[in-house]
Amino acid sequence: MELLTIGAFARASRLTPKALRIYDELGLLRPAHVDEFSGYRFYSPDQLERARLVAWLRRLGMPLTRIREVCELEPVHGAEAVAAFWARAEADLASRRELAGFLVRYLSGEVTAMSSQLTISYAARSDIGKLRTTNQDTAYASSRLLAVADGCGQAGQAASAAAIDALKPLEAQLPAGDLLNALSDAVACADATLREVTGSDPGSATTLTAIFWSGSQLALVHIGDTRAYLLRDGELFQITHDHSVVQALLDEGKITQAEAASHPQRSLLLKALSGDSSASPDLSLHEARDGDRYLLCSDGLTAVVPGEAIAALITAPGSPAQAVTALIAAANQAGGPDNIACVVADVLAAEAPM
Ligand code: MN
Repeated sequence: MELLTIGAFARASRLTPKALRIYDELGLLRPAHVDEFSGYRFYSPDQLERARLVAWLRRLGMPLTRIREVCELEPVHGAEAVAAFWARAEADLASRRELAGFLVRYLSGEVTAMSSQLTISYAARSDIGKLRTTNQDTAYASSRLLAVADGCGQAGQAASAAAIDALKPLEAQLPAGDLLNALSDAVACADATLREVTGSDPGSATTLTAIFWSGSQLALVHIGDTRAYLLRDGELFQITHDHSVVQALLDEGKITQAEAASHPQRSLLLKALSGDSSASPDLSLHEARDGDRYLLCSDGLTAVVPGEAIAALITAPGSPAQAVTALIAAANQAGGPDNIACVVADVLAAEAPM
C-alpha cells in the first residue's frame, strides 16, 4: 500500500498537518513511517478511519486524553464512552443554563439579592391508568414551568400536549412586563394552536393548569378540572377551582360533597380550551416560600383518591419524584379508570452562587 505524505493525509482526513504532529506526539495517531533522515511523517490510507474518528471526537469537544482512550476501545465500548461523555456534557450545559438565566434575571434587577433566590426541584409524569387505551393527559415540569393538561375527544392527546407546548416560549424569556398578561397572552396563543390541532375534530378540548415560575413569584393559570394544590406548613390547600358542572352544583349548595364524588356528570366541564377563542382562564399571582410544595394533577387522581389520602401522600417525606410515583400508584390501586397526570415541585432556598 502506498504511503501518503503528511500533506496528502491531512487533506484526506480534514485535519491540519500541525494537528497530525500533535496527535503523533500524544500517541493518538502514529505515522506508519517516519523518514529517519528527513523526519518526514508518512501515513497509510487505512489510518484514515482512525484520523476521521479523532477529528469527529475533537469536534464534539472531547479532550485529547479521553479521545486516546476511546480510540483504543472496541467500537461497542467506544459508543458507550461517547454516550457517557455526551450525557455529562448535557448535564453541565443544563446547570450552566440555569445559572446564566439566573444571572440575567439578577443583572436585570428582577432578583433583589442573590441569597434570597428560591429554586424548585420537580418531577412530572402522566400515566395511562388501568382502563384507557390512550393517554390524553400531559404532565410537564421545568425550572420555569409546571403544567398538567387533560385532553378529551379524538384529538385529546394532541390538544393537551399543544396547550402546554404553547406556554414553553415563556420559559426561554422572562416576560418584560406583567407576568399575568404574558400568561394570558400565552393561553390565547394555546387556544389558537388548538384550532389547528383539533381542526378535524371540533369536539376535542383540553384542560390546562400551569404555574409559571419567576424566582419568588409565581403565576397560576387554570381552566377546566385539572387542579393545583399547595402544601404549606403541613396543610394542603386546593388553589384552583374546578370549572365543572359538579363544582357549580356544589357551589350553589344543590349537592353535597359525597354526592359530588359519585355524580354521573362529574367529568362534564363548564370551561376548557377548545380552540374557539372563548377561553377565559383563571389567573392569579402567588408568593412562593421556602418549604412550599406544589401538586398539579388531573382528575384521574382526584376522582378516585380521596383528599385525605392525597394529603397523606404529598406530606410524606420524599423527593418530588417519589411523591409522583406514590400518587399515580394510589390512583391505579383505586382502579385507575382514567389517565393520571401529576407534577410535584418543592420550593427551596437556593444557595448563593459562589
Ligand atoms: Mn381525565
